[in-house]
Amino acid sequence: MARGHSHGETGRGLVVLKGQAGRAGVVWLVGAGPGDPDLLTVKALRLLQAADVVVHDRLTPRPILDLAAPGARLIDVGKRKSRHTLPQDGINQLLVGLAREGLKVVRLKGGDPFMFGRGGEELEALRAAGIEAHVVPGVTAALAAAAGAGAPLTHRGLAQAVTFVTGHAAAGAEPDLDWTALARTNHTVAIYMGLSTAPGIAARLIAAGRSPLTPVAVVENASLPDERRLVTTLSALGDSVAGLDGPALLIVGEVAALAKADLARHLGAADETRVGVR
Ligand code: SAH
Repeated sequence: MARGHSHGETGRGLVVLKGQAGRAGVVWLVGAGPGDPDLLTVKALRLLQAADVVVHDRLTPRPILDLAAPGARLIDVGKRKSRHTLPQDGINQLLVGLAREGLKVVRLKGGDPFMFGRGGEELEALRAAGIEAHVVPGVTAALAAAAGAGAPLTHRGLAQAVTFVTGHAAAGAEPDLDWTALARTNHTVAIYMGLSTAPGIAARLIAAGRSPLTPVAVVENASLPDERRLVTTLSALGDSVAGLDGPALLIVGEVAALAKADLARHLGAADETRVGVR
């Protein structure tokens, strides 16, 4: 249905026309980046400052929320893996309801809304309800992790491709991925939500032909003050990540060797498989 068509129809939620913004609410799905407020986009900052209400997850750092306008209402929908305080349907309905009250809603999503963030589902629900919705991209965790570790995701001679995958799967199992494709050399695999399944993922990659000595950089809390990085190998990955519990990104591939070299130089670290810095 044509937006910007000025025939004055309010559409009762079917057609939301520009120029009636005083009455029709709008939802912005905004990438909050990996945690450091300085990694918000200027657009995200402007929207935060203009929002009537900010809907955020439990892990959204306080310094980012503090950028919202003083009068803005903050709603924590408290999502955490296997401990949802509000199920996705509830979040979708909340966003629709707030927009129908005529509010300017910022739905803050960690990293980028469309990267393993269920932003697609929220956008679909908003569209289905006839709510005006927009998406603002954000710095996704893999990019912040690569920057923090000093390991480019692609690099001449080391990686001509990068694949973003989720390590999340039903309890205890590895996700259903194309392991043969992921095991190709000169190819980086950036794994989200992969801490608990790391041992299984490593085993699958090795079984599919990736060398057990392939370097892996693990970055926990990328871009945050408590960022921790370690460099290990595929065969030692499971042991190396035991004990990490913050959000962490696994960078598997030849490029991770660059992180190792970089950290070792700064640290003069004795422990080659488990190097934490900051
Ligand atoms: N939409 C987000 C990803 C959501 S899935 C994005 O684009 O980044 C949640 C996973 O993202 C976590 O399990 C972790 O793997 C990763 N992640 C999010 N923030 C992170 C951070 N600051 N450091 C490392 N990994 C992070």
